[in-house]
Amino acid sequence: MGVYKCCAEHIELAIDMYIDEKEAAPEIEKISVDKQALHCDFCKNQAIYVVGN
Ligand SMILES: [Zn+2]
Repeated sequence: MGVYKCCAEHIELAIDMYIDEKEAAPEIEKISVDKQALHCDFCKNQAIYVVGN
């Protein structure tokens, strides 16, 4: 695993968590909003980014 979905507010938190876990910089992908209604892993907002690779 080690892939986080997050909103704009939690992008830095997701990056920090990824780096803590993997000790490497993640790839950050922007989600196409109309295709997926994913929720942020850290709050109830809609996820905008996927952090991982
Ligand atoms: Zn969030």
